[in-house]
Amino acid sequence: PIGVAFADVKFRYPGVTAVDAGLKQVSFEVKAGTSLGIVGPTGAGKSTIARLLFRFFDVEGGSVSVGGLDVRSVTQASLRRLMGVVPQDTVLFNSSLDYNIRYGKRNCSTEERDDAAKHASLSAFVSRLEEGWDTVVGERGLKLSGGEKQRVAIARLFVKNPPIVLLDEATSALDSRTEADIQGALAALSSDRTSVTIAHRLGTISNCDAIIVLNAGRITERGSHAELLALE
Ligand code: ADP
Ligand code: ADP
Repeated sequence: PIGVAFADVKFRYPGVTAVDAGLKQVSFEVKAGTSLGIVGPTGAGKSTIARLLFRFFDVEGGSVSVGGLDVRSVTQASLRRLMGVVPQDTVLFNSSLDYNIRYGKRNCSTEERDDAAKHASLSAFVSRLEEGWDTVVGERGLKLSGGEKQRVAIARLFVKNPPIVLLDEATSALDSRTEADIQGALAALSSDRTSVTIAHRLGTISNCDAIIVLNAGRITERGSHAELLALE
């Protein structure tokens, strides 16, 4: 696995003058194979951290690095190969579930493709979808439940197998029962990988090795889950 680091990152969205938008002096390190949780209110800058990791924007000051390399020196294709995202709302293609899941491998070399055993076990995982593996999603894809779509997104990342995973409020659109069900799959996906989990509530990231609290673009607290709970 490889790690991720932000060092004194300063960032403002182009053309945005609001003082709270963006990031100010944000520093943290996620060592290879460990997990970081990020919490904070809406607008705090949590997803901005995700966008900078993928270099959707360049920082104004400081640096963002992946595996010890500044993201400015890594190609966009490599960055995408290194990282996978489970977003809040997964959008699926109007194609079969199989296509949607194999899509996670499209940026990889041919030798890496078609890991039959993994695919078979994923098939079992995804068969928990109401309609099963062979369903042509088609228009019905739009009708998969939120939890089912997240299951497909997770399966896609198992196939892609990136060293770093980013979970951006992956369960926040789900009811609490479905959330609990999906948490187990997310934990399996994150284990042995470097992971960054963005969440609304501390409860969702109780398993993270370290947590930062973001407010108006600044880190206001950091510590373990237990330490931060004690502050609440
Ligand atoms: P969070 O994920 O914590 O809810 P974001 O990182 O999405 O917050 O946003 C942080 C701040 O930056 C907010 O004030 C938001 O309005 C602003 N912002 C987010 N995306 C953009 C953008 N593309 N252009 C301008 N401002 C943005
Ligand atoms: P990839 O291109 O990584 O194989 P996808 O095309 O399925 O994967 O879509 C994920 C891509 O979309 C990521 O690579 C990333 O560039 C972007 N992306 C999606 N959601 C987010 C998010 N919440 N934060 C940052 N980037 C995101």
